[in-house]
Amino acid sequence: MLRAVLRRSKSNTTSPLCARASSRRLSSLPSRPHPRRRSFLRQHLKLIPTAKPPPFNAHFRPLFTRSVATSSPQSSPDVYDAPEKLGFEKLSEQFIEECKSKAVLFKHKKTGAQVMSLSNDDENKVFGVVFRTPPKDSTGIPHILEHSVLCGSRKYPLKEPFVELLKGSLHTFLNAFTYPDRTCYPVASTNAKDFYNLVDVYLDAVFFPKCVEDIQTFQQEGWHHELNDPSEDITYKGVVFNEMKGVYSQPDNILGRSSQQAVFPDNTYGVDSGGDPLDIPKLTFAEFKEFHLKFYHPSNARIWFYGDDDPMERLRILSEYLDMFDVSTAPEESIVKSQKLFLKPVRIVKKYPATEGGDLKKKHMLCLNWLISDEPLDSETELALGFLDDLLLGTPASPLRKILLESSLGEAIVGGGVEDELLQAQFSVGLKGVSKEDIKKVEDLVMDTLKSLAETGFDTDAVEASMNTVEFSLRENNTGSFPRGLALMLQSIGKWIYDMDPFEPLKYQKPLMALKARIAEEGNKAVFSPLIEKYILNNPHRVTIEMQPDAEKASCDEAAEKKLLDEKKASMTEADLSKLARATRELRLRQETPDPPEVLKSVPSLSLQDIPKKPVQIPIKIGDINGVKVLHHDLFTNDVLYSEVVFDMSSLKQELVPLVPLFCQSLMEMGTKDMDFVQLNQLIGRKTGGISVYPFISSVRGKADPCSHMIVRGKAMSGRIEDLFNLINHIIQDVQFTDQKRFKQFISQGKARMEDQLQGSGHNIAAARMEAKLNVAGWIGEQMGGVSYLEFLQSLEEKVDLHWNEISSSLEEIRRTLFTKSGCLINLTADAKNLTNSEKHVGKFLDLLPSSSSAESKIWKARLPTISEAIVIPTQVNYVGKAANLYETGYEFNGSAHVISKHISNTWLWDRVRVSGGAYGGYCDFDTHSGVFSFMSYRDPNLLKTLNVYDGTSDFLRELEMDDGALTKAIIGTIGDVDSYQLPDVKGYSSLVRYLLGIEEEERQKRREEILSTSLADFKEFAERMNLVKDNGVVVAVASADDVDNANKERPNFFEIKKAL
Ligand SMILES: [Zn+2]
Repeated sequence: MLRAVLRRSKSNTTSPLCARASSRRLSSLPSRPHPRRRSFLRQHLKLIPTAKPPPFNAHFRPLFTRSVATSSPQSSPDVYDAPEKLGFEKLSEQFIEECKSKAVLFKHKKTGAQVMSLSNDDENKVFGVVFRTPPKDSTGIPHILEHSVLCGSRKYPLKEPFVELLKGSLHTFLNAFTYPDRTCYPVASTNAKDFYNLVDVYLDAVFFPKCVEDIQTFQQEGWHHELNDPSEDITYKGVVFNEMKGVYSQPDNILGRSSQQAVFPDNTYGVDSGGDPLDIPKLTFAEFKEFHLKFYHPSNARIWFYGDDDPMERLRILSEYLDMFDVSTAPEESIVKSQKLFLKPVRIVKKYPATEGGDLKKKHMLCLNWLISDEPLDSETELALGFLDDLLLGTPASPLRKILLESSLGEAIVGGGVEDELLQAQFSVGLKGVSKEDIKKVEDLVMDTLKSLAETGFDTDAVEASMNTVEFSLRENNTGSFPRGLALMLQSIGKWIYDMDPFEPLKYQKPLMALKARIAEEGNKAVFSPLIEKYILNNPHRVTIEMQPDAEKASCDEAAEKKLLDEKKASMTEADLSKLARATRELRLRQETPDPPEVLKSVPSLSLQDIPKKPVQIPIKIGDINGVKVLHHDLFTNDVLYSEVVFDMSSLKQELVPLVPLFCQSLMEMGTKDMDFVQLNQLIGRKTGGISVYPFISSVRGKADPCSHMIVRGKAMSGRIEDLFNLINHIIQDVQFTDQKRFKQFISQGKARMEDQLQGSGHNIAAARMEAKLNVAGWIGEQMGGVSYLEFLQSLEEKVDLHWNEISSSLEEIRRTLFTKSGCLINLTADAKNLTNSEKHVGKFLDLLPSSSSAESKIWKARLPTISEAIVIPTQVNYVGKAANLYETGYEFNGSAHVISKHISNTWLWDRVRVSGGAYGGYCDFDTHSGVFSFMSYRDPNLLKTLNVYDGTSDFLRELEMDDGALTKAIIGTIGDVDSYQLPDVKGYSSLVRYLLGIEEEERQKRREEILSTSLADFKEFAERMNLVKDNGVVVAVASADDVDNANKERPNFFEIKKAL
């Protein structure tokens, strides 16, 4: 319900344990498409699950007896024009105004499986099957199973049907999530044929996976002992094992997990469904099989369909699967029991691994957690709690967030606020980067602030801003790159999974109106104060967690693991050892043996005839208002205007570049002469759907100079367009750069964010570093968001007190240089009426801009030296990159490069870096603007070994054999990326980006033709290019000190070492 809209990207504690599930979180803030991140977002899907082949199991038996019976009548569809005849009973039917859908809840009579079927006019069709999978321990069974079921099934007996779908379908979404108590398998596509292909592969995977009969899949995806040679040490390997080691390397994640487990000591949330690396190796194959047999059963399934396809076809497909099963007792066994409230608060102190050196005293974390209730809450209370959360923590102006950050007691907020995706809601908040002696002060500050808010209530403007923000989000229904039907499914399942009404979470209008009426009548204090008192202040179920940094913990943990493995080895006979070495070899051999072509063909695919020959067109009209170019995109936006005000950044002095992110934050969070930043933010919340400011940097193909702009992005309902442009004008012209204290907070928040990035997203940091060595745009990006930026923040922190005037006037200088009429361009997306209406407001806005800047275009010539570097951080897993600029070697861009690089990622790198290497992910990316081709690995146990895989790419291409079917799949998958589904605001934005980068329609058509006509010869030719990366590429790794030392022993002086944390 509304809570999903209210939810922001706060640091989150509960929920999906698989890192790949993080994209699920929706943000009500405007998204910030950024060309440097583009490739990561796409690649994120590839960092998904996977596994292997084998034969069948007990589950299969009913299949054979019954498949004969069900398959024949299915061919005459008119017989099955009623759900009853297909074996379903209609339980309820409702029209849901909020999502304009007819929703029908069915029960499959034989098994009790439940189906929600939503029909509407959304072409982005969604299917999902969800099982209740509460674990009893932290061995990670649900998570390993989530990976493994997608590794081959009865009808699709290849190693990884999932990867085949990634390669060759038009999916708009394809992934799987493990929550603390459920596992979800969603797919989406706009093409009906493609959609049903995806549905069938997923249904076969969850009900008839090969992994339950095949220990090698379990070993690969879960864990196994690895021994290459009896003379070497035994190690642990496994995709989930390694993924979770990465998770347990991040302090915020350790805190989140510890909090959840301490709040729920008595039910399933007291263990980690993702798996604790210490417990994963305790899991046996027998337990794993048993878990699947019990919980992956139709009786325990909730199935979701959404979109504009034929609702009867959905039931027809389902009945074929569901009819093969009988009813089971799984629904009783999978019930999630609630945690009883404590009688008195609890306090916990834990250690987390930190780096040696640095100031460990200032690295404590303190988080307060409450279990809100042990009984289900009514929907109005839930809604009110959602608003309370937004009011307390939602924006930088929200009182609890603001007071905590301004206290200077810590660097950044931890805890997720109100989290209500599990059976019982929790509230958590705290700070990290705290001194040991300030721990008690943080605790008192949280409690005192909540007390005083309960006494005074909230500012009326703040409540109005929060209400407007939520109503705007609901009206806009902007789920970003997430299909709308999937967002709805996750909302509905949040209740449905606990046997509550699946319709209720979709219907927000009535409770919202009721809550608004109550606030208007009784005042916000009467509504919110009792909630703060009852659920937080007077609630004895409070868990206070203090996390202490421990410089020895990482090496102790490693030593303990090694000891265990050494003992294991000591206990083995020579025969055992050679048996293990053989098993290791056999597993690797299987991983490296491709599926035979006839097996690959079992995965259904579209043909090239199903693919449109023309690229997706976005309407664009280029006009002029007061001498400034204005791009119009006439699209239906449900009465919302999206606008981007774009300023040229090329005249900015080079030394001011690293200040740009802090400049952007200052604009939004410092306030003007007449309004402090709280008032300014409330005004933005009350009048608009949000405003953001950020730099846009990209290389331009064929040009030495990068494209660099500052973009102010905003959205508003049609009646508020004037307010929107007034506010943008206030922000860029009237904000005062005088608040030294706040600026210092920005620096420490920025530092904390960059440190998180280094540990959690080292691949982005390494990629940025490589780009900085290869082109100017990359250098700028790294100055504003890489290791250089972190170093800049560290030195700025030291001089901000002494040199504040200088810094403040630098911020003024950036404003003077950027915000002028001469460097401005406006981009507008809305329907024709609103486009016309907005013109006068745009004109007025432009009149108020200074007319020209005295600064000239600066030539930025900087690059980082092209040495191979290792950024050393405390971590259990590495991120390894290698890249080169193909344009500098004379390569001329051809659309086939998209097909080839996607294929390299999905086959060669997936097999070698992930499947047999044990990394969580490995991929390559070709930036067509800069010409940089890069390899990257993610949560990788290896270092040099991964580089060897990259270097083997040219041989892989040279020896590649591909039949027409495989080639067609690679082409279709690439078209799926190119034609990715976009909501109207993103369409308008994409068109703007093309305009800025000078990409014309003719070129898009040409690239599409090149993609569609890609041949095997193109792959072979590309092998030469990969040779150049091998010989001339630059290497950057974010890695542990030990692994870098070992690499430098093996290849003397290979890495220049840089300590970053
Ligand atoms: Zn995972």
